[in-house]
Amino acid sequence: MNHAESSAVKNLLRSRQWQEASSADSADLVIINTCSVRITAETRVVGRIAHFTACKRERDLTILVMGCMAERLHEEFKTRFPAVDYVVGMFERSRFEAIFSAIESRYSKGDPLDYIPSPDAAGGYRFFSNSLEEGAFQAYIPIMNGCNNFCSYCIVPYVRGREVSRDITSILSDLDNLAARGVREVTLLGQNVNSYRWQDSLTGAMIDFPALLERIARHLDNTSGIKWVRFMSSHPKDLSDDVIAVIARERVFCRYIHLPVQSGSNRILGEMNRRYTREHYLSLVDRIRTAIPEVTISTDILVGFPGETEEDQQQTLNLVETVGYDAAFMYHYNPREGTKAFDMPNWISEPVKKARLDQVIRLQHSLAAQRMRSRVGSEPIALIESTSRNNPDELFGHTEFGDMVVFASPADHALIGRFVRVQLTLLRGRTFRAKIVEIEPEVAERR
Ligand code: SF4
Repeated sequence: MNHAESSAVKNLLRSRQWQEASSADSADLVIINTCSVRITAETRVVGRIAHFTACKRERDLTILVMGCMAERLHEEFKTRFPAVDYVVGMFERSRFEAIFSAIESRYSKGDPLDYIPSPDAAGGYRFFSNSLEEGAFQAYIPIMNGCNNFCSYCIVPYVRGREVSRDITSILSDLDNLAARGVREVTLLGQNVNSYRWQDSLTGAMIDFPALLERIARHLDNTSGIKWVRFMSSHPKDLSDDVIAVIARERVFCRYIHLPVQSGSNRILGEMNRRYTREHYLSLVDRIRTAIPEVTISTDILVGFPGETEEDQQQTLNLVETVGYDAAFMYHYNPREGTKAFDMPNWISEPVKKARLDQVIRLQHSLAAQRMRSRVGSEPIALIESTSRNNPDELFGHTEFGDMVVFASPADHALIGRFVRVQLTLLRGRTFRAKIVEIEPEVAERR
C-alpha cells in the first residue's frame, strides 16, 4: 500500500515538472513514507531523519514525512524532529498540492545566495523518496483503504481509519491508464479487499468484491495489455465462495492467493480477534484448491503472541505442514502501543519468540523447497521484467504463481514486458532456470 501511495505522490511531483534524484544527496526535497506496523520500521525512519537532519546543516533541503507513522505521531513528530518541514498524516493527502506549491515558490523566490542548488538540479527541482517503485510492467491499484477488523495486535485501523472503498469507475480508469503506459500486471490493494463495497450510481446496485472482480474481468477484454490481475490481502473470514468462483472462471486472475493465517491455534486466533478458527481456515484452503487445483497459496504467520504456549506453537507448525504453503511472511510479535494486545499479560521473551520463529521458518522453507522442486518440468507462463542482475545476457521474470525465473535462452531484449510460456528446467536456490516454449501465449482466455 505504501508503494502505491509513494507512486501517487511521485506522479504528482512529476506532473509539476519535478525530477527524481538518483539519491538523497542530490535532492532538494526528501520524502519519507513511513510504516507503523512494526517498531523496526519506525526505528529506521528515526535513523533516516537523523541522517537528513545532518544533510540539512550542509545545504538547503526540505524534509517531508508522510504515512502511518506521520499519522500516529503527528504533533510529537514536529517537536521531536524540528528539521522535518512537513508532516502529512494519512487523512491529509489533499495538502500535497499546497505544500509542493509552497516549496516551489520558496526555492524560486529565495535569495540565490541562500539557495545552494543540488549538484544535478539543472532543469528543475529534484526529489527523493525512500520507497521502492513498482516495476515498469507491474502496478498497484488501491481499491479500498482502512480496516474495521481490529485484530488485537494491529495498529492499522488506528492509523488508517475505517474501511473506505474507491469508486469503481476510478478503478477501471486506473486500469485503462496503466494499460496505456504498457503495464501488463496489476495488483488490487486493500487492507481487506474482500470488504470492498461500492454503490453503483447508475443502477443503484451494491458492488461487492466478487462483483468488482467480474467487472474488471469484463473490462479487461482481449484488447487490453493487462493480462494478469492479483489482489491482496484477503481476510480468511471474508474470502467467499463467490470470490473463489470468479477466480476459477476468469483466467485474468492469477492462480495465487495470499491468505494470512497468523496462527494455527484456535485459542491464539481468538486472542488475536481474527474471528475464524483453524477448521474454517483449513476448509477454505480445501475449497480454493478444489475450485482452482493449480493455485499457489501464501500466508502471514505471527509467532510469540502474548500468552502463546508450546502447545499453540505446535499447532501452528502442524497447520503449516497441513496446508503446504508456497510462500510465507513470518515474523514474531511486536508490541504496538495503543493496541489491545499491548495490554495483555504474559509477554513472550525475545529469545523464545526468536526460537519459535526460527522453527516455523525452517519448517516452511523446507516444505516450500519441496513444492518448488516438484514444479521443475512444468510449463507456466511468465512475465519478462528485465535482464538478469547477474548476467545481462539473460532475462529475468516471474510466473503467475510468484516463482522467479531466469531464461537460459540467449537474451532478446525485445521480449522484456512480454508474456512467454517457459519450461522450468532447474531450481537454483529460489530461482528457476527456464527455457522459452512460446511467446505471448493466450494468457487470459476464459475457462
Ligand atoms: S485485518 Fe487485522 S491485521 Fe489486517 S489490517 Fe485489519 S486489523 Fe490489521
